[in-house]
Amino acid sequence: MARALIIGAGGVSNVVCHKCAQNSEVFEEFMIASRTKSKCDAIKETIESGIYAGRSKITTAQVDADNVEELVALIRDYKPEIVINVALPYQDLSIMDACLETGVHYVDTANYEPEDTAKFEYSWQWAYREKFEKAGLTALLGSGFDPGVTGVFSAYAQKHYFDEIHTIDILDCNGGDHGYPFATNFNPEINIREVTANGRYWENGQWIETKPMEIKREYHFDGVGQKDMYLLYHEELESLALNIKGLKRIRFFMTFGQSYLTHLQVLENVGLTGIEPIMYEGKEIVPLQFLKALLPDPASLGPRTVGKTNIGNIFRGIKDGKEVSYYVYNICDHQECYQEVKSQAISYTTGVPAMIGAAMILTGKWNKAGVYNIEEFDPDPFMDALNEFGLPWKENFNPIFVD
Ligand code: NDP
Repeated sequence: MARALIIGAGGVSNVVCHKCAQNSEVFEEFMIASRTKSKCDAIKETIESGIYAGRSKITTAQVDADNVEELVALIRDYKPEIVINVALPYQDLSIMDACLETGVHYVDTANYEPEDTAKFEYSWQWAYREKFEKAGLTALLGSGFDPGVTGVFSAYAQKHYFDEIHTIDILDCNGGDHGYPFATNFNPEINIREVTANGRYWENGQWIETKPMEIKREYHFDGVGQKDMYLLYHEELESLALNIKGLKRIRFFMTFGQSYLTHLQVLENVGLTGIEPIMYEGKEIVPLQFLKALLPDPASLGPRTVGKTNIGNIFRGIKDGKEVSYYVYNICDHQECYQEVKSQAISYTTGVPAMIGAAMILTGKWNKAGVYNIEEFDPDPFMDALNEFGLPWKENFNPIFVD
């Protein structure tokens, strides 16, 4: 039925491509295009020797997604209906520009960031609202797990269980073990920029800033067990604070083991997590990019990672004048993901919703011109698709709260 262009060929792209092949009724044909074409070819080969072989027609290409002209030429040549951007956040705006120029819908999983500041805000992409509206195109922002499913969960809670949601706590637990002393589960540069930034949460209309990892809590996660978790800023807080009316507080917590934190602290103390370029033997290098080159490639963690993730939202609020609470979450098993698509659960939980978001637009279930965050659409068809495509969710109407 449709043709998609998938940009990027890392861990998340591998899952998106497998899932598009699984959903070949919608994604009859797709192209994988990235900076390094051999990685696109490798994904195509993995699909063609796996359980989703022979479904979609897959082609590959080389593209520099920082270059709008190159992107426009590729899109004009391949003629997709949608671009799924799973390269890096630095490429969001150039890909959005190319989509506007060629009349193609856009989906991503992470908000735009300039390379020189780790700011995590939607302002740059929200500035494209009018342009997409006028062009009659949809840009769906943040269609991964968090952001992504956490926004769909919020829209679903709002639609079915609450008159007013007062608090949301998003809990992101990775109980997986890859056996390395230190590695990150997705792009190390993006991951480390996120966890070394100050924490921030939203309460009574204001942002409250914390030091990195200043607020620690323990929680018992279904399917995983007891874990330490830390308050972080995460980009969906910005859009949910605006889009969930009546909200009084929203926070985000992520679990980290002690070994990860100790390594990170040492790397930070010696300056290896910095994003300011330094001179080394006559050449400018960015310490964090150098560190990325030393660390295991997240795509290589799949075969070694065991354990489960549990990511979800706890809501408190009012329904028919009574106080109610609701916890909705997904448990995902690293090894089961690997068996199915040759990726660990972090890439899996991001890639499945990216495919679903694109399918929502292509099938007309989500049909609004403009730039939107995911919670601005009807959550029901997306929630059904999560069950169908490997991320089933569970509900608890009497959850333990985070203090
Ligand atoms: P990887 O680093 O594994 O992959 C990124 C890919 O993008 C690589 O193939 C890379 O090419 C390619 N790329 C980078 N720059 C360019 C460019 N200028 N032109 C073309 N291709 C380029 O990252 P992940 O797969 O782990 O993550 C992908 C995205 O998903 C990131 O934006 C990340 O922030 C997001 N994410 C979102 C989550 C969510 O829940 N919402 C969770 C996890 C990740 P090369 O191979 O040559 O390096």
